[in-house]
Amino acid sequence: MAGGGGRANGPEGSERSGGSEKYGYNFCAGPATLPRSVMRRVREEFAAHADDGTSVIEISHKSPRFTALLDSVVARLRKLCGIPDGYHVLFVHGGARMQCSAVPLNLISRSPGRTSGYVETGLFARQARAEGARYGTAAVVAGSADTGFDRIPDVRPEDCPPDAAYIHLTSNNTAYGTRWHTFPRGLPGPLVADATSDVLSRRLDFSRFGVVYAGFQKNLGPSSVALVVVRDDLLGHALPGTPLLLDYAVYAASRSLHNTPNTFALFVLSLYLDWIDEQGGLDAVERVNRAKADVLYEELDRSSFYRPTAHPDHRSITNITFLLPDAEATADFLRHAEAEGLRGLAGHRSVGGIRASVYNGMPPAGVRALAGFLREYERTRG
Ligand SMILES: *Cc1c(COP(=O)(O)O)cnc(C)c1O
Repeated sequence: MAGGGGRANGPEGSERSGGSEKYGYNFCAGPATLPRSVMRRVREEFAAHADDGTSVIEISHKSPRFTALLDSVVARLRKLCGIPDGYHVLFVHGGARMQCSAVPLNLISRSPGRTSGYVETGLFARQARAEGARYGTAAVVAGSADTGFDRIPDVRPEDCPPDAAYIHLTSNNTAYGTRWHTFPRGLPGPLVADATSDVLSRRLDFSRFGVVYAGFQKNLGPSSVALVVVRDDLLGHALPGTPLLLDYAVYAASRSLHNTPNTFALFVLSLYLDWIDEQGGLDAVERVNRAKADVLYEELDRSSFYRPTAHPDHRSITNITFLLPDAEATADFLRHAEAEGLRGLAGHRSVGGIRASVYNGMPPAGVRALAGFLREYERTRG
């Protein structure tokens, strides 16, 4: 490791999943690195059942063994995140993008004029609005496109449709590396948040939202399932013709067991929750995540070679984005980083530059390795 600052010693650095000095680190934005102890336990589960018995993906989703796992995941999420009574915790098929359809299908009929509001802060926010616009009028109520999505805009009630069924925002913008620190108050209609890239990486006050959804593959486990936390009064308003398996009320009535859920993903989530407990809970995990992001931002701010793209007041702690002087330098940086075992650092294809995704699963040693590489690369090639 050229950087010198990136030595990962001891058991923390000794295993493949989650990264290590030997195997390097994976900064991919998603699907993303999981904590190494989670991956070790996944291996154990399947190794132990290779010759006899049954693994968690070979049993009925209605069996006591699986329903006990599911019930405990829900109960633990409620406790860990402080999800209030009066909300349902659901596991819905199709990942985060499917919820871009499910949200209007479930909520839009609550607005007589079928209007909704979207805060346009990046790519996923735009995709969500495009889908919302298929079911009614999806107004942009605020946005930061004019400054290259480098910040979170103010949202004023007077800019929202007064009869909005909901106001949608993206709590952390994965491609542009910004996040909401405080959420707007007093808007017409309940807030809906896509929290895919920061769920369980920080504390979120669920009582401020009508719906919070998050695809699994960044901070919860494997892809293609979403956690949906929905306020009870928003259930039961699905548009006529809503597919059964997009109707949140169907999930609520069946404990997410109307058909077979992704049992593997829920098993991995149960291990993920164990890992969070082992770290000392959500606040402890958030502290570590802040410290990880600080290490990288300090390095970037100190440098005149790298240019962080997010406004300092709106920086994400899970996706750290920055630019090099030009595309050639960016490609060279990525090549050298890869050679040092620092992978998955290319920015989103439509944004360019560099993006280091440092979700819960990225150990502090990986961040130190990257910081060391940043310094060394600037010294020798900057
Ligand atoms: C990754 C991501 C998505 C897409 O998730 P899928 O599960 O692939 O649909 C949506 N929103 C945000 C904020 C994301 O980071």
